[in-house]
Amino acid sequence: MSNIRAIRGMNDILPDVTPSWQYVETVIGSLMASYGYSEMRMPIVEQTDLFRRGVGETTDIVEKEMYTFLDRNEESLTLRPEGTAGCVRAAIQHGLLNTVQRLWYTGAMFRYERPQKGRQRQFHQVGAEAFGVASADMDAEVILLTARLWRELGIAEDVQLQLNSIGNAESRNAYRDALVAYLRERVDALDEDSQRRLASNPLRILDSKNQETQAVLDGAPSLVDFLDEESAADFSRLRELLDAAGVAYSLNPRLVRGLDYYNKTVFEWVTDRLGAQGTVCGGGRYDGLVEQLGGKSVPGVGFAMGIERLVLLLEECGQLPPAEASADVYVVSFGDSAQTEALAAAEQLRDALPGLRIVQHNGGGSFKSQMKKADKSGARLALIWGDDEVAANTVSIKPLREQNNERVGQQSVARAELEQTLRALLAV
Ligand code: ATP
Ligand code: MG
Repeated sequence: MSNIRAIRGMNDILPDVTPSWQYVETVIGSLMASYGYSEMRMPIVEQTDLFRRGVGETTDIVEKEMYTFLDRNEESLTLRPEGTAGCVRAAIQHGLLNTVQRLWYTGAMFRYERPQKGRQRQFHQVGAEAFGVASADMDAEVILLTARLWRELGIAEDVQLQLNSIGNAESRNAYRDALVAYLRERVDALDEDSQRRLASNPLRILDSKNQETQAVLDGAPSLVDFLDEESAADFSRLRELLDAAGVAYSLNPRLVRGLDYYNKTVFEWVTDRLGAQGTVCGGGRYDGLVEQLGGKSVPGVGFAMGIERLVLLLEECGQLPPAEASADVYVVSFGDSAQTEALAAAEQLRDALPGLRIVQHNGGGSFKSQMKKADKSGARLALIWGDDEVAANTVSIKPLREQNNERVGQQSVARAELEQTLRALLAV
């Protein structure tokens, strides 16, 4: 029988890697709290219509990347490909949008893409959404939050901020017409995807990775020249705020982002250290989305970042914390009554010294084999119980690591003094 393996593009995150994820998650969690963002947890499965309406019919995601299926009740459901639509759906449904609302979430997202480094079919995002403020101070806030994250993770030098404004719907329509007119005259020089998009979603052509298409775009009209007054004013205020805060950015007039719901500010944090999958974080303003999903007209701005890419980048930059041993203390014992003692003592220690990682040897074995396991665990101390210890009501403590370049010898302490001795030896 052939072995069952994980689905292509859906990776196991193994124990040697989870500490890196936990580190990133911990830093992000406290950063979000420090800006007043509250965590939300939404379902992984939603009605397919949510994404059709929320992400946009002609986006890559909806056209070809969604995991969509009929449930047993013949209802069309989709594994969430991104978090904003679900977050907005939940915020409307539970009446969270009557006031300014700062929310964040993290979790698995699903897109049927070609798997490669930094691109999976199940991947993980952290996202934040700020609702209820239409002015550029809120755009600045979410960007400053991300900038602080890079500093806290030690990668501020390795990511660059790209910024653009795509204006309101009217200015975008006017620009779209001008762009389409320009490109129609040069349609043969466009790649196949872009030719298709000329009819369905021409702004996405700006995003094309094809070099010939990019060359055609060099002469194309620029979105900046079509910006409505309000968007232009907001954009210059945002830049003022970022300048004052010392956040560097470059203007990228071709930055449009893949999702339909954006207006005004769009931004991406990119790195050149991850090859083709260089966008670590993307976001922008989406003032029409809440209404489009059935809520009142409430402006919003937010971002999402890919945790896989972030962890890869931290690794690439040597900014992951060093691997830690999984135990502080390893408990070994010989014979039933010794094991009974050892188990009770380990429980008492967990009560008395919370946070201390105590691994108990289970399954018996020779002194040599148990001590080998103790050593391999990375623990600093082994606690040893045998017949002698049980008889004398003591426990032997064996240091497993050198301290200040010397290894202290084994000592025997009275059972009643174990906790005190450990406190002193481990400085806890
Ligand atoms: P890309 O252009 O790389 O496909 P995108 O514009 O589709 O990215 P968004 O929908 O903006 O990405 O998602 C925000 C972030 O989530 C991305 O910047 C990236 O870090 C991450 N991300 C998106 N798709 C994937 C994926 N398939 N695998 C891993 N991370 C992803
Ligand atoms: Mg994509």
